[in-house]
Amino acid sequence: MTVALRSDSGWRAQLVPSYPDLFHPAGDPLAAEGWPAVDDGWRELLERACARIRAAVRDDGGSFRATQIKEKYGSLRFYWSGRLSPEARTRVEEAIDLAEARTATTCEVCGEARHRKLRPRSAVSCRIQPRAAARCARCLRSNGGVLPLIF
Ligand SMILES: [Zn+2]
Repeated sequence: MTVALRSDSGWRAQLVPSYPDLFHPAGDPLAAEGWPAVDDGWRELLERACARIRAAVRDDGGSFRATQIKEKYGSLRFYWSGRLSPEARTRVEEAIDLAEARTATTCEVCGEARHRKLRPRSAVSCRIQPRAAARCARCLRSNGGVLPLIF
């Protein structure tokens, strides 16, 4: 999945170079450590988080480096390293926590709210389709309808 997304020339390839202070190495988006390996539905949430992180890092004068951005168990994971004051670290963590919390109820594919979660048999669904937990019912259905949907 990550490999496929890395060839993408859309919003990810614009987001990464527009935040050279957050993504390294700067200048080559496809080589960036923190390349966002997530689908289009989370674009806005991620862009907002990056703007908030930038503001916190700039005010602080410290360093920040996105190390991995991905989906796991139906929500965003945004890993980073850097040297920031405790205050700036708190602001960054708040921005990331907020984005991660919102992705838990936002479809990774279409960006629509998803209130219903896959329940017990989701472990089976996720083996068939690893990212099923991050998708709304409509996107799951439009994907061939092969999944047993349990609400
Ligand atoms: Zn959807």
